Amino acid sequence: MAPQYDAVVVGAGFGGMGAGIELDRLGLSNYVILDRESDLGGTWHVNHYPGLAVDIASVTYSYSFEPNPYWTRLFAPGAELKKYAGHIADKYGLRRRMRFGTVVDGARWDEEHQHWVVSVAGGETLTGRYLLTATGFLSQPYTPPFPGIDSFAGKIIHTTAWEDDFDLTGRKAAIIGTGATAVQLVPEVAKQAQALTVFQRTPIWVVPKIDTAIPKPVQKLFDRVPATQKAARLFNTSLLEALMVVGVLHYTQAKPLNKAASLLAKAHLRTSVRDKETRKQLTPHYDFGCKRPTFSNTYFRSFNQPHVRLETNSIDHIEADGIVTADGHKTEIDTLILATGFNLWDVNFPAIEIIGRDGVNLGKFWRDNRFQAYEGITVPKFPNFLSLNSPYSYSGLSYFTTIEAQMKHMGRLFTELFRRGEHTFEVTEEANAGFLDRVTGKLGTSVFYGGDCSTARSYYFNPHGEAALLRPTSTLNAHREAVSFPLDDYVYGKSA
Ligand SMILES: Cc1cc2nc3c(=O)[nH]c(=O)nc-3n(C[C@H](O)[C@H](O)[C@H](O)COP(=O)(O)OP(=O)(O)OC[C@H]3O[C@@H](n4cnc5c(N)ncnc54)[C@H](O)[C@@H]3O)c2cc1C
Repeated sequence: MAPQYDAVVVGAGFGGMGAGIELDRLGLSNYVILDRESDLGGTWHVNHYPGLAVDIASVTYSYSFEPNPYWTRLFAPGAELKKYAGHIADKYGLRRRMRFGTVVDGARWDEEHQHWVVSVAGGETLTGRYLLTATGFLSQPYTPPFPGIDSFAGKIIHTTAWEDDFDLTGRKAAIIGTGATAVQLVPEVAKQAQALTVFQRTPIWVVPKIDTAIPKPVQKLFDRVPATQKAARLFNTSLLEALMVVGVLHYTQAKPLNKAASLLAKAHLRTSVRDKETRKQLTPHYDFGCKRPTFSNTYFRSFNQPHVRLETNSIDHIEADGIVTADGHKTEIDTLILATGFNLWDVNFPAIEIIGRDGVNLGKFWRDNRFQAYEGITVPKFPNFLSLNSPYSYSGLSYFTTIEAQMKHMGRLFTELFRRGEHTFEVTEEANAGFLDRVTGKLGTSVFYGGDCSTARSYYFNPHGEAALLRPTSTLNAHREAVSFPLDDYVYGKSA
């Protein structure tokens, strides 16, 4: 029985779209992209809170093969990313392959027919010879179970469900969380709300953001002479690579560089915040790089405003009209903004139930053994399956680096599969174990293990304390291996 599709892709963000573009290039054009949302773009469709912008300059945070000369700022606002996603979908004919409002529950490898059976909420099943999951890392919103939150009588908004017409004027607002989202949101809410209290559990390192509008003549130059934008991309990407490789991955060898970054952030804090006590509270006690660095010129300054207050006592419970902290103090509010981020490890590894060969459950396999995936993309016992959001897959700082390396891996793997006239592939246990040994070995010198990350509460770490999200190599290495991994690291076979 032939499957309905060459491939089923789950997720219509930039990862799923990159996979679709590569499938077309490989001639596997009968595929479907499923997404639970109402439109494409993933992160950039779901998030549209005030202040949302990329934190990687846009020349780099985009597909290298599809530059956009018309970014209006060095760090484009979120809405431009959403527009860019729409442009990609149109240009590469992806939209007609997409099915929205489709929640994928799980997928099971059908050994007899050698294809994947994908279950969709509502009872429908789809079959595909190949399964690709691009369900994202930061895609499952998290709300901590604050006691009493259900009794809150005011307005509650999670940053992933922002209501664009919600007017904060005259509101007594609280923002819970001080992660990357809050760094962008706090200054915007402070502009409108009558009072704003920011509840902080873990302070965050913030360095100045060298952002500016890109003048029209420069945009035109990027359009007419693409090499100029390519050069800008190369320059910016090299800076990010140096920051990541030297400051984070080779922490033990290059401590002074890492320390210089934290000194820059401390100087930024000193020159931005007037009150000494607030400065102290905003200073992290973990090493720079334990968490993804954030950039802002306005976050720290927000705390100078008389109507903005930082609260560092832990939240005890929430009442109908306020938040009570462990010291018994109640902050009266009518608007509760949850900048509490995402649940990565509990629900995103994997985001759906995936049952491979011999009934192996991927989530259980990862939890019973260790989180692992060969080259951050394939797992033994899961034939014809590419998991784009895998342990050790996130390479570098711009996520497009990861996406494009994975597209290259797909290209090499499928080209070999077709050359052999086969239809199934599966990574060998040996190759997978070798990769895991190599990456975990390399992590020893990183800031994650060599530095002090104990108070960081960073999503780079899984609940077992392993920093299993980032690929601890240069992005150059990731791209080189994607086009040169030993072809015998996979076994290939005929379909039924
Ligand atoms: C606010 C914010 C800002 C960010 N800024 C940057 C940045 O500046 N630079 C950077 O490199 N990265 C940034 N990121 C990370 C960002 O997530 C990635 O850069 C990139 O957009 C991820 O693309 P993706 O396709 O892998 O995942 P996503 O964009 O998360 O897309 C995953 C898709 O899978 C769908 N999905 C998940 N589960 C299911 C299911 N069961 N059934 C059906 N559909 C499902 C989701 O609906 C979603 O559309 C940011 C993330 C956030 C949240």
